[in-house]
Order: sequence, then structure tokens, then C-alpha cells
Amino acid sequence: MIENDDFIIEFRKAAELPSANWVEWIHESKGRTHCMECLVLDKCWFTFDNKPMYPKHPFCHCKIQQIPYEFVVRVAKAESAYSKIDPYLFDTNGKYGHGKNKVFESWGYTINDALWLQREIERQGFNKYISGDYYLGKLNEQGQRINIRIELERKNGTGTVSFVSGWMVRPNGYITLNTPYGGK
Ligand SMILES: [Zn+2]
Repeated sequence: MIENDDFIIEFRKAAELPSANWVEWIHESKGRTHCMECLVLDKCWFTFDNKPMYPKHPFCHCKIQQIPYEFVVRVAKAESAYSKIDPYLFDTNGKYGHGKNKVFESWGYTINDALWLQREIERQGFNKYISGDYYLGKLNEQGQRINIRIELERKNGTGTVSFVSGWMVRPNGYITLNTPYGGK
């Protein structure tokens, strides 16, 4: 019971943070023309302080509607396809030549860590997204991208390293990994 109470107190504290103020973008297709950028934002969730420019254009019929933080925490989800790590990140078939595998190998990570890395990037991505700890990236007709900083312990030494991962915002609090390593 103590644990539950603690959770409630923590939750109340968190709910008072500006980052706990979440909104859903709602695209209203009243006009004859459909703005593709507004259409891809439909039902996407952002913190009020860290949302795409609103309204996006003159005569934009989109709305933003507040959603309870508790709901965000419960429903939001971050997912990465395993293929983003293997073969992509570690370039296991030598097809990409991006050198990102070298960066991870210099920190002591190998293909044996691929599954763990996938889960860890999802875990941090989820936690940072629901904390509003993300940066808005490019928005186009494919969707709104966000960047999230991932921190890892070096496996072959002491200290932590960090890098930026790229995600796509999808409806209902769902984000999917575009690129595990987008840069430092
Ligand atoms: Zn609009």
C-alpha cells in the first residue's frame, strides 16, 4: 500500500510539471483541400509546450484537445523494429557502409547486444517521450519526426555516452524508431 501511495504522490508531482500538459492534434476535414501535414498530425500526441506550430496555416481547421497525463502514461508506446539494430545499425551484411557500427563497437557494443540495445532504446524512448523530453524534427507528408537523446554506459570502460535517436510520431501516443543513431 505504501508503494501505491508513493506512486500517487509521485504522480501528483509529475502531473504539475509543464511536461504533463498533453494535447492531441485533431484534424478536421471541413475544407475542400486537405493539408497533408495536418492530416499526418491527426490524433498525434505532444506536450502543449512542445508541439508543432499551431495553427499550421491560415484557415486551418485543426484543433488541439487536452488529454489527461495519466492516459498518456498508460497508453503511449515506443517501438523499434529489430532490423533497425540488426542488420541496419551493426551493418551485419556490409550493405550500408555508414560506419555507425564502428561507433557502437568503440563503446564495447557488438551484435550480441542487439536485442538488449533494441529494448533499451525503446525503454528510454518511451520514458523520455512521456516526460516531454524530445525535440521536434522534420514534419512532412510522411509525419512528424522527433529526436530523443539516448544514454548508454560504455561496456568497455567507465562513463556514459549519448547520442540522438530519430522517431516518427504516430496516432495515439505511439512512436516508432526511424534511426537508432542519428548523430551525437
Ligand atoms: Zn490544419
